[in-house]
Amino acid sequence: MYQHHSALGLASSLKPVQPVTLIRPHAAQRAARFFAEKFPGRSIYAVKANPSPDLLRVLWDSGITHYDVASIAEVRLVAATLPGATLCFMHPVKAEEVIAEAYHEHGVRTFSLDSLEELDKITRATRDAEDLNLCVRLRVSSEHSKLSLAAKFGAEPSEIRELLIATRQASDALGICFHVGSQAMTPAAYSEAMERVRAAIVDAGVTVDIVDVGGGFPSSYPGMEPPPLEAYFAVIHRAFEDLPISYSAELWCEPGRALCAEYSSLIVRVEKRRGEELYINDGAYGALFDAAHIGWRFPVELLREDPSRARDMGFSFYGPTCDDMDKMAGPFMLPADVQAGDYIEIGMLGAYGCAMRTGFNGFGSMGSFEVEDEPMTSLYIELEQPKRSNVVTL
Ligand SMILES: *Cc1c(COP(=O)(O)O)cnc(C)c1O
Repeated sequence: MYQHHSALGLASSLKPVQPVTLIRPHAAQRAARFFAEKFPGRSIYAVKANPSPDLLRVLWDSGITHYDVASIAEVRLVAATLPGATLCFMHPVKAEEVIAEAYHEHGVRTFSLDSLEELDKITRATRDAEDLNLCVRLRVSSEHSKLSLAAKFGAEPSEIRELLIATRQASDALGICFHVGSQAMTPAAYSEAMERVRAAIVDAGVTVDIVDVGGGFPSSYPGMEPPPLEAYFAVIHRAFEDLPISYSAELWCEPGRALCAEYSSLIVRVEKRRGEELYINDGAYGALFDAAHIGWRFPVELLREDPSRARDMGFSFYGPTCDDMDKMAGPFMLPADVQAGDYIEIGMLGAYGCAMRTGFNGFGSMGSFEVEDEPMTSLYIELEQPKRSNVVTL
């Protein structure tokens, strides 16, 4: 891997024709240490946010020992990359063959489920194993989150009692888990979900050993600046302490976005300008899926040796493929004189960005380069020279 000091230095010296992914191991290290030290329980990294083996090693070296995997490919990847890691299979709907391989070949002992069918699959595939940690996933509201996860998974209140009682009998440790949706903008999302957990425990009258509050911890984007993460941790800790559970019960969380959003950004080149529309060389089929499909606004920065003195204005982006859907509405704020040939850094793409690239229509990227400068925004440090006004610090 090549190393450069900064995004600007790399754009000026390399003049890349294809998009380039920038990685900042120091930013992921800072996020991992923050969770490892400050979350009042165990932090389990949700691998789907960014499965890069380089990132997995940084997280491991920074104190993250447990990994939330959702597919057999993720199980194999983490087992091969981090042989000492503990894997938690937190997808509530799995193939029986996959459960069997995870349990018998990779030592996975923690599984989630949201139905009696899935419980049957797990007990069959593991041949009635007696060393299982089984987490029942509750359906909770996503109303405080920018990206809903409320529709697809999670047992309904009417099914919970029976499912908890049956799972208690099949497990060594019984857990309850949920996901409040990604980019939860207020800690109240967690306290409200914990009330559901309380009701489920009281109703079923079971002993619960693990409470897993899932992911959803936010990062900072233009127009989506959340409260400090400590506020989330405090609310979760208080709600956990108030639950009718055993003294030795464990608190878990599954951050994806919050651990890796600051890890990567992207350098793109403007190939054409048409009024307020910029035709850039990456898009919906590259690292900008969320910008195209759910209108996510990422921070942007014009990379010029001589900074522009023009005032900022809003632009939208077209990606490089021949598809009208390859459009990112933004608005992305850039100096009014941006033109073809300019390079732009698009920030905060470490989570659900660089991991989602396809090769559709022959447009790819030049690969990854390590840089030492700071991410455009951060939840973990006060930036000395905030690049843009949307910086949130603790
Ligand atoms: C996606 C996912 C996560 C991570 O969510 P973030 O919003 O990125 O923190 C955690 N747990 C489960 C089960 C998930 O599906």
